[in-house]
Amino acid sequence: MSGVSPNEAWRQRSLAAVWHPCTQMKLHAPDGAALPLIPVARAEGVWLHDREGRRYLDAISSWWVNLFGHNHPAIRAALVDQLNTLDHVMLAGFTHAPVVELSERLAALTGLGHAFYGSDGASATEIALKMSAHHWRNAGRVEKNRFVGVAGGYHGETVGALAVTDIALFREAYAPLVRLAATVPSPDARGAAPGETPADVAERAAAALGDWLAEHAHETAAVIIEPLIQCAAGMAMHDPVYLQRARELCDRYQVHLVLDEIAVGFGRTGTLFAHEQAGIRPDFLCLSKGLTGGTLPLSVVLTTDAVYAAFYDDQVARGFLHSHSYTGNPLACRAALATLDLFDQTDALRQNLGTSERLTAQFEPLSKHPRVRFARQRGMVFAWDVASSLPDFGRRYARHALTQGLLLRPIGHTLYAMPPYVIDQAEGELLARGALAALEATLAEETAPAPVVGDRDGV
Ligand SMILES: *Cc1c(COP(=O)(O)O)cnc(C)c1O
Repeated sequence: MSGVSPNEAWRQRSLAAVWHPCTQMKLHAPDGAALPLIPVARAEGVWLHDREGRRYLDAISSWWVNLFGHNHPAIRAALVDQLNTLDHVMLAGFTHAPVVELSERLAALTGLGHAFYGSDGASATEIALKMSAHHWRNAGRVEKNRFVGVAGGYHGETVGALAVTDIALFREAYAPLVRLAATVPSPDARGAAPGETPADVAERAAAALGDWLAEHAHETAAVIIEPLIQCAAGMAMHDPVYLQRARELCDRYQVHLVLDEIAVGFGRTGTLFAHEQAGIRPDFLCLSKGLTGGTLPLSVVLTTDAVYAAFYDDQVARGFLHSHSYTGNPLACRAALATLDLFDQTDALRQNLGTSERLTAQFEPLSKHPRVRFARQRGMVFAWDVASSLPDFGRRYARHALTQGLLLRPIGHTLYAMPPYVIDQAEGELLARGALAALEATLAEETAPAPVVGDRDGV
Protein backbone atom coordinates (compact mmCIF):
# COMPACT_ATOMS: atom_id res chain seq x y z
CA MET A 1 0.00 0.00 0.00
CA SER A 2 2.86 2.39 -0.72
CA GLY A 3 1.69 5.91 -1.43
CA VAL A 4 -1.41 5.44 0.70
CA SER A 5 -1.49 7.21 4.06
CA PRO A 6 -1.85 5.08 7.24
CA ASN A 7 -5.39 6.35 7.82
CA GLU A 8 -6.35 5.61 4.24
CA ALA A 9 -4.84 2.12 4.33
CA TRP A 10 -6.87 1.10 7.40
CA ARG A 11 -9.96 2.80 6.02
CA GLN A 12 -9.75 0.74 2.84
CA ARG A 13 -9.13 -2.55 4.67
CA SER A 14 -12.01 -1.85 7.05
CA LEU A 15 -14.44 -0.99 4.27
CA ALA A 16 -13.48 -4.19 2.45
CA ALA A 17 -13.88 -6.54 5.45
CA VAL A 18 -15.92 -4.92 8.25
CA TRP A 19 -19.65 -4.28 8.16
CA HIS A 20 -20.08 -1.26 10.44
CA PRO A 21 -23.10 -0.94 12.78
CA CYS A 22 -26.11 1.23 12.11
CA THR A 23 -24.43 2.42 8.91
CA GLN A 24 -25.38 2.75 5.27
CA MET A 25 -21.98 1.54 4.06
CA LYS A 26 -22.33 3.45 0.81
CA LEU A 27 -22.03 6.71 2.76
CA HIS A 28 -18.44 5.69 3.44
CA ALA A 29 -17.72 5.07 -0.25
CA PRO A 30 -14.39 6.72 -1.19
CA ASP A 31 -15.92 8.76 -4.01
CA GLY A 32 -17.83 11.53 -2.34
CA ALA A 33 -17.43 10.10 1.21
CA ALA A 34 -20.52 11.66 2.78
CA LEU A 35 -19.10 10.59 6.13
CA PRO A 36 -15.43 9.69 6.57
CA LEU A 37 -14.50 6.51 8.44
CA ILE A 38 -11.93 7.37 11.10
CA PRO A 39 -9.32 4.76 12.01
CA VAL A 40 -8.47 5.15 15.71
CA ALA A 41 -5.05 4.00 16.89
CA ARG A 42 -5.34 4.80 20.60
CA ALA A 43 -7.43 6.71 23.10
CA GLU A 44 -6.76 8.50 26.35
CA GLY A 45 -9.01 10.65 28.53
CA VAL A 46 -11.54 12.41 26.31
CA TRP A 47 -9.34 11.99 23.22
CA LEU A 48 -9.39 9.56 20.32
CA HIS A 49 -6.16 9.60 18.27
CA ASP A 50 -5.98 8.58 14.64
CA ARG A 51 -2.87 7.24 12.88
CA GLU A 52 -1.70 10.55 11.48
CA GLY A 53 -1.50 12.77 14.54
CA ARG A 54 -5.08 14.04 14.48
CA ARG A 55 -7.23 13.76 17.57
CA TYR A 56 -10.96 13.93 18.21
CA LEU A 57 -12.68 14.91 21.44
CA ASP A 58 -15.09 12.06 22.22
CA ALA A 59 -18.03 14.31 23.12
CA ILE A 60 -20.57 11.47 23.04
CA SER A 61 -18.51 9.04 25.13
CA SER A 62 -18.33 6.55 22.24
CA TRP A 63 -22.07 5.89 22.06
CA TRP A 64 -22.62 6.79 25.73
CA VAL A 65 -20.46 4.07 27.29
CA ASN A 66 -17.42 5.92 28.62
CA LEU A 67 -17.52 7.59 32.03
CA PHE A 68 -14.04 8.38 33.35
CA GLY A 69 -12.17 8.78 30.08
CA HIS A 70 -10.50 6.25 27.83
CA ASN A 71 -7.67 4.04 29.00
CA HIS A 72 -8.20 4.90 32.66
CA PRO A 73 -5.19 3.61 34.65
CA ALA A 74 -7.28 2.22 37.53
CA ILE A 75 -9.59 0.22 35.26
CA ARG A 76 -6.66 -0.95 33.18
CA ALA A 77 -4.79 -2.13 36.30
CA ALA A 78 -7.84 -4.02 37.55
CA LEU A 79 -8.21 -5.74 34.18
CA VAL A 80 -4.54 -6.74 34.02
CA ASP A 81 -4.73 -8.14 37.55
CA GLN A 82 -7.88 -10.09 36.70
CA LEU A 83 -6.36 -11.44 33.50
CA ASN A 84 -3.47 -12.76 35.56
CA THR A 85 -5.79 -14.81 37.80
CA LEU A 86 -9.05 -15.80 36.13
CA ASP A 87 -9.98 -14.98 32.55
CA HIS A 88 -13.36 -16.64 32.35
CA VAL A 89 -15.42 -19.48 33.72
CA MET A 90 -19.00 -20.41 32.90
CA LEU A 91 -21.48 -19.09 35.46
CA ALA A 92 -23.78 -22.13 35.51
CA GLY A 93 -22.47 -24.37 38.29
CA PHE A 94 -19.53 -22.01 39.02
CA THR A 95 -19.04 -18.64 40.63
CA HIS A 96 -16.18 -16.21 41.25
CA ALA A 97 -15.29 -13.19 43.36
CA PRO A 98 -15.83 -10.43 40.76
CA VAL A 99 -19.42 -11.49 39.96
CA VAL A 100 -20.30 -11.96 43.64
CA GLU A 101 -18.81 -8.64 44.70
CA LEU A 102 -20.39 -6.75 41.82
CA SER A 103 -23.81 -8.24 42.53
CA GLU A 104 -23.51 -7.37 46.23
CA ARG A 105 -22.51 -3.80 45.47
CA LEU A 106 -25.27 -3.26 42.90
CA ALA A 107 -27.78 -4.68 45.37
CA ALA A 108 -26.58 -2.28 48.06
CA LEU A 109 -26.84 0.66 45.64
CA THR A 110 -30.31 -0.15 44.30
CA GLY A 111 -32.11 -2.27 46.88
CA LEU A 112 -32.61 -4.89 44.17
CA GLY A 113 -30.96 -8.01 45.49
CA HIS A 114 -30.82 -10.43 42.54
CA ALA A 115 -28.53 -9.83 39.57
CA PHE A 116 -28.86 -11.65 36.23
CA TYR A 117 -26.10 -10.92 33.70
CA GLY A 118 -26.01 -10.50 29.93
CA SER A 119 -23.52 -8.98 27.54
CA ASP A 120 -25.18 -6.05 25.80
CA GLY A 121 -27.98 -3.65 26.55
CA ALA A 122 -30.38 -5.40 24.21
CA SER A 123 -29.82 -8.70 26.01
CA ALA A 124 -30.69 -6.98 29.31
CA THR A 125 -33.97 -5.82 27.76
CA GLU A 126 -34.71 -9.36 26.60
CA ILE A 127 -33.90 -10.79 30.02
CA ALA A 128 -36.20 -8.32 31.77
CA LEU A 129 -39.10 -8.99 29.37
CA LYS A 130 -38.71 -12.77 29.56
CA MET A 131 -38.32 -12.72 33.33
CA SER A 132 -41.39 -10.55 33.80
CA ALA A 133 -43.64 -12.71 31.62
CA HIS A 134 -42.26 -15.92 33.14
CA HIS A 135 -42.86 -14.52 36.63
CA TRP A 136 -46.57 -14.05 35.81
CA ARG A 137 -46.71 -17.51 34.26
CA ASN A 138 -45.25 -19.04 37.41
CA ALA A 139 -47.81 -17.03 39.37
CA GLY A 140 -50.61 -18.67 37.36
CA ARG A 141 -51.28 -15.59 35.22
CA VAL A 142 -50.20 -16.88 31.78
CA GLU A 143 -52.32 -14.28 30.01
CA LYS A 144 -50.09 -11.48 31.37
CA ASN A 145 -47.53 -11.64 28.57
CA ARG A 146 -47.74 -8.33 26.71
CA PHE A 147 -45.68 -5.19 27.15
CA VAL A 148 -46.24 -1.48 26.89
CA GLY A 149 -43.55 1.09 26.12
CA VAL A 150 -43.32 4.83 25.64
CA ALA A 151 -43.53 6.53 22.23
CA GLY A 152 -40.04 7.09 20.87
CA GLY A 153 -38.61 4.56 23.32
CA TYR A 154 -35.38 2.71 22.58
CA HIS A 155 -34.41 -0.54 24.26
CA GLY A 156 -32.07 -2.19 21.78
CA GLU A 157 -32.25 -3.77 18.36
CA THR A 158 -32.37 -7.54 18.72
CA VAL A 159 -35.70 -9.02 17.63
CA GLY A 160 -37.10 -9.19 21.16
CA ALA A 161 -35.88 -5.73 22.15
CA LEU A 162 -37.25 -4.24 18.92
CA ALA A 163 -40.72 -5.15 20.16
CA VAL A 164 -40.49 -2.35 22.72
CA THR A 165 -38.34 0.00 20.62
CA ASP A 166 -40.47 2.67 18.97
CA ILE A 167 -38.03 4.20 16.50
CA ALA A 168 -39.30 3.74 12.97
CA LEU A 169 -35.90 3.61 11.26
CA PHE A 170 -34.73 0.75 13.46
CA ARG A 171 -38.00 -1.15 13.30
CA GLU A 172 -39.55 -0.74 9.86
CA ALA A 173 -37.68 -3.42 7.95
CA TYR A 174 -37.97 -5.93 10.78
CA ALA A 175 -41.55 -5.29 11.93
CA PRO A 176 -42.82 -8.58 10.45
CA LEU A 177 -40.41 -10.46 12.74
CA VAL A 178 -41.54 -8.71 15.89
CA ARG A 179 -44.47 -9.01 18.29
CA LEU A 180 -44.96 -5.31 18.75
CA ALA A 181 -45.65 -3.89 22.16
CA ALA A 182 -48.23 -1.17 22.70
CA THR A 183 -46.99 2.39 23.01
CA VAL A 184 -48.35 5.19 25.18
CA PRO A 185 -47.62 8.93 24.75
CA SER A 186 -44.20 10.22 25.78
CA PRO A 187 -43.85 12.62 28.73
CA ASP A 188 -41.27 14.55 26.62
CA ALA A 189 -41.34 18.07 28.09
CA ARG A 190 -41.07 19.58 24.59
CA GLY A 191 -44.68 18.54 24.09
CA ALA A 192 -45.90 21.23 26.49
CA ALA A 193 -48.88 23.27 25.32
CA PRO A 194 -48.67 27.03 26.03
CA GLY A 195 -48.75 27.52 29.81
CA GLU A 196 -48.01 23.87 30.59
CA THR A 197 -45.05 22.92 32.79
CA PRO A 198 -42.94 19.79 32.24
CA ALA A 199 -44.77 18.30 35.24
CA ASP A 200 -48.12 18.98 33.51
CA VAL A 201 -46.92 17.13 30.42
CA ALA A 202 -45.75 14.25 32.62
CA GLU A 203 -49.13 14.08 34.38
CA ARG A 204 -50.91 14.06 31.04
CA ALA A 205 -48.73 11.22 29.73
CA ALA A 206 -49.17 9.31 33.00
CA ALA A 207 -52.95 9.65 32.70
CA ALA A 208 -52.73 8.07 29.23
CA LEU A 209 -50.69 5.20 30.69
CA GLY A 210 -53.34 4.83 33.38
CA ASP A 211 -56.12 4.69 30.77
CA TRP A 212 -54.23 2.05 28.85
CA LEU A 213 -53.57 -0.08 31.92
CA ALA A 214 -57.18 0.19 33.08
CA GLU A 215 -58.12 -1.66 29.91
CA HIS A 216 -55.14 -3.97 29.36
CA ALA A 217 -53.48 -4.70 32.71
CA HIS A 218 -54.96 -8.21 32.81
CA GLU A 219 -52.91 -9.15 29.72
CA THR A 220 -49.87 -7.00 30.45
CA ALA A 221 -46.67 -8.21 32.11
CA ALA A 222 -44.70 -4.98 32.28
CA VAL A 223 -44.31 -1.33 31.41
CA ILE A 224 -40.82 -0.41 30.15
CA ILE A 225 -39.52 3.14 30.51
CA GLU A 226 -36.24 5.02 30.03
CA PRO A 227 -36.28 7.21 33.13
CA LEU A 228 -35.73 11.00 32.80
CA ILE A 229 -34.15 10.95 29.32
CA GLN A 230 -35.22 9.04 26.21
CA CYS A 231 -31.77 9.29 24.71
CA ALA A 232 -32.16 7.66 21.30
CA ALA A 233 -35.37 9.63 20.72
CA GLY A 234 -33.15 12.74 20.66
CA MET A 235 -32.48 13.38 24.36
CA ALA A 236 -36.18 13.81 25.15
CA MET A 237 -36.31 14.80 28.82
CA HIS A 238 -39.22 14.52 31.23
CA ASP A 239 -40.23 15.45 34.74
CA PRO A 240 -39.59 12.79 37.43
CA VAL A 241 -43.26 12.88 38.45
CA TYR A 242 -43.92 10.65 35.43
CA LEU A 243 -41.93 7.89 37.12
CA GLN A 244 -43.80 8.35 40.40
CA ARG A 245 -47.13 8.01 38.60
CA ALA A 246 -45.89 5.01 36.61
CA ARG A 247 -44.84 3.33 39.88
CA GLU A 248 -48.27 4.02 41.44
CA LEU A 249 -50.07 2.70 38.35
CA CYS A 250 -47.94 -0.46 38.19
CA ASP A 251 -48.71 -1.13 41.86
CA ARG A 252 -52.41 -0.50 41.41
CA TYR A 253 -52.71 -2.69 38.29
CA GLN A 254 -50.21 -5.40 39.24
CA VAL A 255 -47.90 -4.80 36.32
CA HIS A 256 -44.09 -4.81 36.55
CA LEU A 257 -42.18 -1.58 36.14
CA VAL A 258 -39.02 -2.14 34.07
CA LEU A 259 -36.64 0.81 34.06
CA ASP A 260 -34.05 0.82 31.30
CA GLU A 261 -31.09 2.79 32.67
CA ILE A 262 -28.70 1.37 30.09
CA ALA A 263 -27.91 4.89 28.87
CA VAL A 264 -28.83 7.07 31.86
CA GLY A 265 -27.40 4.93 34.67
CA PHE A 266 -24.12 5.61 36.46
CA GLY A 267 -24.40 9.32 36.99
CA ARG A 268 -25.42 10.64 33.60
CA THR A 269 -28.49 12.44 34.92
CA GLY A 270 -26.82 13.77 38.07
CA THR A 271 -27.71 10.93 40.45
CA LEU A 272 -26.12 7.49 40.29
CA PHE A 273 -29.39 6.15 38.91
CA ALA A 274 -32.01 8.34 37.25
CA HIS A 275 -34.96 6.82 39.13
CA GLU A 276 -33.51 8.05 42.44
CA GLN A 277 -34.77 11.52 41.43
CA ALA A 278 -38.32 10.21 41.59
CA GLY A 279 -37.79 8.43 44.91
CA ILE A 280 -39.08 5.14 43.52
CA ARG A 281 -37.79 1.62 42.98
CA PRO A 282 -38.49 -0.43 39.84
CA ASP A 283 -39.23 -4.17 39.72
CA PHE A 284 -36.52 -4.60 37.11
CA LEU A 285 -33.54 -2.36 36.45
CA CYS A 286 -31.53 -2.82 33.22
CA LEU A 287 -27.93 -1.60 33.22
CA SER A 288 -25.10 -1.75 30.69
CA LYS A 289 -23.07 0.88 28.75
CA GLY A 290 -21.33 2.78 31.61
CA LEU A 291 -21.35 -0.31 33.85
CA THR A 292 -17.77 -1.20 32.87
CA GLY A 293 -16.69 2.41 32.41
CA GLY A 294 -16.83 1.88 28.67
CA THR A 295 -14.23 -0.89 28.48
CA LEU A 296 -16.01 -4.23 28.01
CA PRO A 297 -19.51 -5.41 27.13
CA LEU A 298 -21.54 -6.35 30.18
CA SER A 299 -25.17 -5.91 31.12
CA VAL A 300 -27.22 -6.81 34.14
CA VAL A 301 -30.86 -6.99 35.15
CA LEU A 302 -31.47 -6.37 38.83
CA THR A 303 -34.72 -7.49 40.39
CA THR A 304 -36.63 -7.94 43.64
CA ASP A 305 -36.96 -10.76 46.15
CA ALA A 306 -40.60 -11.16 45.08
CA VAL A 307 -39.69 -11.83 41.45
CA TYR A 308 -36.87 -14.15 42.46
CA ALA A 309 -39.16 -16.09 44.78
CA ALA A 310 -41.62 -16.82 41.96
CA PHE A 311 -38.91 -18.87 40.20
CA TYR A 312 -37.55 -20.71 43.27
CA ASP A 313 -39.01 -24.19 42.96
CA ASP A 314 -38.35 -27.91 42.66
CA GLN A 315 -39.21 -27.86 38.96
CA VAL A 316 -36.46 -26.91 36.49
CA ALA A 317 -39.03 -25.48 34.09
CA ARG A 318 -40.08 -22.90 36.69
CA GLY A 319 -36.50 -21.59 36.85
CA PHE A 320 -35.40 -18.69 34.69
CA LEU A 321 -34.29 -20.32 31.45
CA HIS A 322 -31.82 -17.97 29.88
CA SER A 323 -28.06 -17.99 29.36
CA HIS A 324 -25.28 -16.38 27.39
CA SER A 325 -21.87 -18.06 27.05
CA TYR A 326 -20.09 -15.12 28.64
CA THR A 327 -22.65 -14.49 31.40
CA GLY A 328 -20.91 -12.75 34.32
CA ASN A 329 -17.50 -12.64 32.61
CA PRO A 330 -14.88 -12.00 35.35
CA LEU A 331 -12.94 -9.41 33.35
CA ALA A 332 -16.03 -7.35 32.65
CA CYS A 333 -17.14 -7.64 36.29
CA ARG A 334 -13.71 -6.47 37.48
CA ALA A 335 -13.91 -3.48 35.16
CA ALA A 336 -17.33 -2.70 36.67
CA LEU A 337 -15.96 -2.95 40.22
CA ALA A 338 -13.09 -0.62 39.34
CA THR A 339 -15.63 1.80 37.82
CA LEU A 340 -17.74 1.79 40.99
CA ASP A 341 -14.55 2.41 43.00
CA LEU A 342 -13.89 5.49 40.87
CA PHE A 343 -17.29 6.94 41.80
CA ASP A 344 -16.27 6.71 45.47
CA GLN A 345 -12.62 7.71 45.10
CA THR A 346 -13.24 10.74 42.90
CA ASP A 347 -16.53 11.84 44.48
CA ALA A 348 -17.73 11.83 40.88
CA LEU A 349 -21.37 12.78 41.38
CA ARG A 350 -20.44 15.92 43.31
CA GLN A 351 -17.64 16.75 40.86
CA ASN A 352 -20.09 16.38 37.99
CA LEU A 353 -22.34 19.07 39.48
CA GLY A 354 -19.53 21.57 38.99
CA THR A 355 -18.57 20.17 35.60
CA SER A 356 -22.11 20.36 34.23
CA GLU A 357 -22.52 23.91 35.53
CA ARG A 358 -19.27 24.90 33.86
CA LEU A 359 -20.25 23.24 30.59
CA THR A 360 -23.69 24.87 30.68
CA ALA A 361 -21.95 28.26 30.84
CA GLN A 362 -19.49 27.29 28.11
CA PHE A 363 -22.36 26.17 25.87
CA GLU A 364 -24.30 29.39 26.40
CA PRO A 365 -23.52 30.91 22.96
CA LEU A 366 -24.78 27.68 21.38
CA SER A 367 -27.89 27.61 23.57
CA LYS A 368 -28.66 31.20 22.58
CA HIS A 369 -28.08 30.67 18.86
CA PRO A 370 -31.11 31.97 16.92
CA ARG A 371 -31.63 28.57 15.25
CA VAL A 372 -31.62 26.61 18.50
CA ARG A 373 -34.79 25.57 20.29
CA PHE A 374 -35.30 23.63 23.49
CA ALA A 375 -31.75 24.03 24.82
CA ARG A 376 -31.80 21.54 27.69
CA GLN A 377 -29.53 19.86 30.19
CA ARG A 378 -29.79 17.22 32.85
CA GLY A 379 -26.68 16.10 34.68
CA MET A 380 -23.99 15.46 32.09
CA VAL A 381 -26.36 15.41 29.12
CA PHE A 382 -26.76 18.56 26.99
CA ALA A 383 -29.05 18.88 23.98
CA TRP A 384 -30.28 21.44 21.46
CA ASP A 385 -32.83 21.14 18.67
CA VAL A 386 -31.74 22.94 15.53
CA ALA A 387 -34.20 24.45 13.07
CA SER A 388 -32.71 23.69 9.68
CA SER A 389 -34.06 22.99 6.25
CA LEU A 390 -31.34 20.38 5.65
CA PRO A 391 -32.91 16.91 5.72
CA ASP A 392 -29.46 15.39 6.35
CA PHE A 393 -28.53 17.98 8.96
CA GLY A 394 -27.12 15.35 11.34
CA ARG A 395 -24.70 13.81 8.88
CA ARG A 396 -23.51 17.18 7.61
CA TYR A 397 -23.05 18.41 11.16
CA ALA A 398 -21.08 15.29 12.14
CA ARG A 399 -18.68 15.89 9.26
CA HIS A 400 -18.10 19.52 10.22
CA ALA A 401 -17.65 18.46 13.85
CA LEU A 402 -14.86 16.09 12.77
CA THR A 403 -13.19 19.00 11.00
CA GLN A 404 -13.34 20.81 14.36
CA GLY A 405 -11.72 17.78 16.04
CA LEU A 406 -14.96 16.68 17.69
CA LEU A 407 -16.89 13.43 17.75
CA LEU A 408 -20.50 14.66 17.74
CA ARG A 409 -23.30 12.80 15.96
CA PRO A 410 -26.66 14.57 16.08
CA ILE A 411 -29.84 12.49 16.19
CA GLY A 412 -31.95 13.95 13.39
CA HIS A 413 -32.05 17.68 14.10
CA THR A 414 -31.08 17.22 17.75
CA LEU A 415 -27.50 18.09 18.55
CA TYR A 416 -26.28 16.74 21.88
CA ALA A 417 -23.16 16.29 23.98
CA MET A 418 -22.65 13.54 26.54
CA PRO A 419 -18.94 13.81 27.30
CA PRO A 420 -16.85 11.68 29.67
CA TYR A 421 -17.02 13.04 33.23
CA VAL A 422 -13.31 13.92 33.21
CA ILE A 423 -13.66 16.66 30.58
CA ASP A 424 -11.71 19.66 31.90
CA GLN A 425 -12.12 23.42 31.52
CA ALA A 426 -9.95 23.72 28.39
CA GLU A 427 -11.47 20.66 26.74
CA GLY A 428 -14.95 22.01 27.52
CA GLU A 429 -13.99 25.26 25.80
CA LEU A 430 -12.76 23.39 22.70
CA LEU A 431 -16.00 21.43 22.65
CA ALA A 432 -18.28 24.44 23.04
CA ARG A 433 -16.45 26.58 20.48
CA GLY A 434 -16.12 23.70 18.00
CA ALA A 435 -19.78 22.71 18.35
CA LEU A 436 -20.83 26.27 17.55
CA ALA A 437 -18.41 26.55 14.61
CA ALA A 438 -19.69 23.24 13.21
CA LEU A 439 -23.25 24.56 13.52
CA GLU A 440 -22.42 27.71 11.55
CA ALA A 441 -20.60 25.67 8.89
CA THR A 442 -23.57 23.30 8.56
CA LEU A 443 -26.16 26.05 8.35
CA ALA A 444 -24.04 27.74 5.65
CA GLU A 445 -24.84 24.73 3.43
CA GLU A 446 -28.57 25.41 3.50
CA THR A 447 -30.17 26.28 0.20
CA ALA A 448 -33.77 26.59 1.43
CA PRO A 449 -34.94 29.01 4.14
CA ALA A 450 -35.06 27.75 7.73
CA PRO A 451 -38.39 26.56 9.12
CA VAL A 452 -40.49 29.11 10.97
CA VAL A 453 -39.46 29.52 14.60
CA GLY A 454 -41.84 27.68 16.89
CA ASP A 455 -42.62 25.03 14.31
CA ARG A 456 -41.66 21.76 15.98
CA ASP A 457 -41.93 19.83 12.73
CA GLY A 458 -39.01 21.77 11.37
CA VAL A 459 -36.79 20.65 14.23
C1 LIG B 1 -28.00 1.58 24.00
C2 LIG B 1 -29.28 1.26 24.64
C3 LIG B 1 -29.79 -0.03 24.65
C4 LIG B 1 -29.14 -1.18 23.92
O1 LIG B 1 -27.84 -1.46 24.36
P1 LIG B 1 -26.85 -2.24 23.36
O2 LIG B 1 -25.67 -2.53 24.21
O3 LIG B 1 -26.55 -1.27 22.26
O4 LIG B 1 -27.56 -3.44 22.89
C5 LIG B 1 -30.96 -0.26 25.33
N1 LIG B 1 -31.60 0.73 25.96
C6 LIG B 1 -31.14 1.99 25.98
C7 LIG B 1 -31.89 3.04 26.73
C8 LIG B 1 -29.97 2.31 25.30
O5 LIG B 1 -29.56 3.58 25.26
